[in-house]
Amino acid sequence: MSSLNIVGPDHPMLHTLVRPITPEQINHPVTQALIFEMQELLRKTSSVGLAINQVGLDYPPMIVIEDLQAYIDQVPMERRRPFLRDTPIPFHALFSPTMEPRGNDVCHAFVSCASVPGVWGAVPYHWSIRVTAYNEEGKEILINAIGWYSLILQHEINHLEGIVFTDIALKGSVMPSRTFFAKQWGLKTSSEIARAFGAKEEV
Ligand SMILES: [Zn+2]
Repeated sequence: MSSLNIVGPDHPMLHTLVRPITPEQINHPVTQALIFEMQELLRKTSSVGLAINQVGLDYPPMIVIEDLQAYIDQVPMERRRPFLRDTPIPFHALFSPTMEPRGNDVCHAFVSCASVPGVWGAVPYHWSIRVTAYNEEGKEILINAIGWYSLILQHEINHLEGIVFTDIALKGSVMPSRTFFAKQWGLKTSSEIARAFGAKEEV
């Protein structure tokens, strides 16, 4: 049973930069045990991603990601299609991930976060990114990601940088969940979101 808990939106660790790790430390039994605890918490909170800051820690610099078919099936096709969210993402943990955009395409997407319950906001994410990180075995890996997976990676890597989505959401776009669902913001395209909140469609 995981002893970890999500900290609230006012917790200082959400705005704290995480500390670095070495490949040897990733292979330490304590770090390996923490991977499984984070996986348990990810499933307990029905989240697709979590970062270590969200449990009130600034070490190790870890994110965990998993998208299950059961989650995908609950989301209407019109909301999944623009992000190419069509196949599950197997569970994996990444350490010390760094990212850079590939190309100038921006994807404006409404997101929520277990650390800031009850609100949604539109964030201008890069459509395509390249991530370098260590995997669970401490090996350096390169990931090219587009669409949904790219959005999750950016949201979680932002956490490790001390950035919560409400910090970078388009001005005026953060709203209570009931408004988000009542107005069907989840069905709007990236262009419609950009227009509604006065954002550019390229960076
Ligand atoms: Zn989050």
